[in-house]
Amino acid sequence: MTVWNPTIEMMPKKELEKLQLKLLKIQVRRLYENSPFYHSKMRMAGIIPDDIRTLDDVSKLPFMTKKDLREGYPNKLMMTDRGGLLRYHASSGTTGKATIVGYTKNDLENWSESLARAMASFGLGSKDIIQVSNTYGLFSGGLGFHYATEKLGATVIPASTGNTDRQIDLICDLGVTAMACTPSYLMYLGEVAEKKGISIKKDTNLRYGLLGGEPWSDRMRDRIYESMGIKGMNCFGASELSGPLFMECAEQDGIHFWRDLALLEIVDPDTGETLGPGEKGEMVITMLQKEAFPMVRYRMGDITSMYEEDCPCGRPHPRIARITGRVDDMIIIRGINVFPSQVEHTLMQHSELGNEFQLVVDRKGHLDSMLVRVELKPEAFTDNIIELNALREHISNRLKGVLSISANVELVQPGTLPRFEGKAKRVVDRREY
Ligand SMILES: [Zn+2]
Repeated sequence: MTVWNPTIEMMPKKELEKLQLKLLKIQVRRLYENSPFYHSKMRMAGIIPDDIRTLDDVSKLPFMTKKDLREGYPNKLMMTDRGGLLRYHASSGTTGKATIVGYTKNDLENWSESLARAMASFGLGSKDIIQVSNTYGLFSGGLGFHYATEKLGATVIPASTGNTDRQIDLICDLGVTAMACTPSYLMYLGEVAEKKGISIKKDTNLRYGLLGGEPWSDRMRDRIYESMGIKGMNCFGASELSGPLFMECAEQDGIHFWRDLALLEIVDPDTGETLGPGEKGEMVITMLQKEAFPMVRYRMGDITSMYEEDCPCGRPHPRIARITGRVDDMIIIRGINVFPSQVEHTLMQHSELGNEFQLVVDRKGHLDSMLVRVELKPEAFTDNIIELNALREHISNRLKGVLSISANVELVQPGTLPRFEGKAKRVVDRREY
């Protein structure tokens, strides 16, 4: 198996840690001296750059949260002291406002490098034909895999999402060997192909799925392999960081986080205390080389554990176990982050609606769907179906505008949705992972 960047990927752990400390010191000093946002955060925490003497000192730095991203909209967290911005991407935020992430030339370079290393680590190379069926656009999935594939020297097919018949034609006619998409879409595509009398396993060259953007399980991985002969490779990404970024190696046992790019911590979500290897907690990431949109001790909200044991592949870069949940109530639907708070914000702008609502997430035929059930106010409750349908449609359109995915809306009678003492349980996730 080829190693894309042997110098970094195979560097002994001790040396990698030295490199991490060097990069951390540079980044912290740069932010302290040039970013009003980070400067005031560090001042408030009583930290100066000289306080960072060992890697463990990272825990002295203040956390960064989604709230910071929200308050920093659109450009307060952006830094361009090392050259201009080359690109913007955006993702949905917690209350409807997007998070805007900027990239310099080096940021784009590191992003592609990270994914190219990963793709090579499980066997992809210049002979491969990779169909990128993630969304191209403001969402960073499509272009992330696109440029990484080009960097790898493989052939890229920028298929983007939708038009499954054409996706299948491309796979068959161009001899596609790997496909980047969500796991549920790959399952769906397999079913559509079967209905057309095409067996992905027997009739195509498709052998790898570069899969992420939604929660999935090893059970689903087995099913994909059994039914389609495709190895599903798990990918970690987050739009606040750089879209798809880290992946598993051929061992398929945890996602490698490259030490030269990211410093990974797992913390107790309640106390913020750093946890040891194997302990389950919230993932906290410090990106060591990001220029335009730095991320220092960013609380990802994902619950997982980290392991430091040597991987049989020989790369001394830590791995994370499958993400088992969230500390907040964010849900991921078709690669899009959805926060109940966004939905609430939109619903509450309608005087006809009461305060109670529920998000029901389902998976039908492998595709995720979302239903928003909301109570009408007693005075807005009517037998006039036409009026209610118009209201329903209006809310559905507004939600689509805010969330970037379509949602069915059901208006229900006042007092019919469950009430909660304490924290409301807004999400009913019926998907089977
Ligand atoms: Zn490995």
